[in-house]
Amino acid sequence: MRKLELHWQILIGMLLGIVFGFVMTYPEWGAGFVQDWINPFGTIFVKLLKLIAIPLILASLIKGISDLKDISKFRNIGLRTIVIYIATTVVAITIGLLLVNVLEPGSGISQDTITQLEQTYGADAGVTSKIEEATRQKERGPLQFLVDMVPDNAFQAVSDNGLMLQVIFFTIFLGISMLLVGEKDAKPLKDFFDSLNEVVLKMVDLIMLTAPVAVFALLANVVVTSGDPDLLLALLKYAGVVVLGLLLMIVFYSIVVASFSRYNPWTFLSRISPAQLLAFSTSSSAATLPVTMERVEEHIGVDKEVSSFVLPVGATINMDGTSLYQGVAAVFIMQVLWPEGLGLANQLTIILTALLASIGSAAVPGAGMVMLVIVLESIGFPPDLYPAALALIFAVDRPLDMCRTVVNVTGDATVSVLVAKSVGKLGKPKVKNWDDHLDEVK
Ligand code: ASP
Repeated sequence: MRKLELHWQILIGMLLGIVFGFVMTYPEWGAGFVQDWINPFGTIFVKLLKLIAIPLILASLIKGISDLKDISKFRNIGLRTIVIYIATTVVAITIGLLLVNVLEPGSGISQDTITQLEQTYGADAGVTSKIEEATRQKERGPLQFLVDMVPDNAFQAVSDNGLMLQVIFFTIFLGISMLLVGEKDAKPLKDFFDSLNEVVLKMVDLIMLTAPVAVFALLANVVVTSGDPDLLLALLKYAGVVVLGLLLMIVFYSIVVASFSRYNPWTFLSRISPAQLLAFSTSSSAATLPVTMERVEEHIGVDKEVSSFVLPVGATINMDGTSLYQGVAAVFIMQVLWPEGLGLANQLTIILTALLASIGSAAVPGAGMVMLVIVLESIGFPPDLYPAALALIFAVDRPLDMCRTVVNVTGDATVSVLVAKSVGKLGKPKVKNWDDHLDEVK
């Protein structure tokens, strides 16, 4: 019998998880049961993915750079990547702003709903911690991000998943130095990292075997921990605008991929779909990164020289879904709480700050909401209204986070295809299965 393809298995796991979560909202002990006995399996899965992220970036980026033979090629890839990332993000924010201004989701919110949302979430630890985090971020100088990118201790950098850009910096530095010492002297190190790269990709295959069960656990937990259904319903129009914008972004990527590569949109999307489904289930592009890298390299055929740089950098700085969401959320909040702020100048400021904010957002669940506070601050939104503003969108943040993370990951994959195509590095996919050598070791 032909085995069901991975993305179908994951999808079935997700659907069963959602159904199970709903069933478990009925008995009084249901939510506690899911959190104590089901959710840990999802958490273990996310931890496993994060566990291999740093070794994978190290190994694959070093392999990518040391295969280059010529440093100027790397400059070429780097420059194209950054320019295309900025362009796609500006497209995303613009789509978001157009939709939110035309569809005006803020107009349907009654004063009752606002009061209820404020009472429910205004003092919620999630809301207050996001505002505090934003205040901390805001106090940093304009060039602090450059300073933060340079590690002062390589081992410390590789021991913290939050320091992905530092790891990338160190690895590029190491890779370029390996090119400069010449092939002979660099060979032992290169062989080591080549081999590490192969082994870590195999670990991705093995972890993915458990994905259908893990997404079941993750989604069941999302359902039992989600907010009051009535409040969710009141925010349906706002959520609908964000989701519509995100869908348009997927259409945009499909058109771009179809125009610039040999892939039709369907093939492209179905080949990266396991990464998209994980992005949805984990709400974290960083946790999804190993799978994105594996899909793009082995199933799409993007050369490691490109993917090893474009994808880890993209996971940290390219967040089209997040920036679209920030544009929509900021204007929605203004429509409800501060209509006098809705001028063109403010909306143009939102484009710029949402772009910078999405670059600065961490690739973890809920990060986009922290940066939203900074976007609001840039347009002079009254600070005493911050808790009300976040309370307004907090109830639907988790489901929207899941959706925007899918777009973040799809955007990274799309740009890697574009960059690869433009430098002649889009080859034939070479799919490897987890059990390719099983017979030899059995
Ligand atoms: N969860 C998103 C990501 O990891 C970031 C965000 O929008 O909150 O890509």
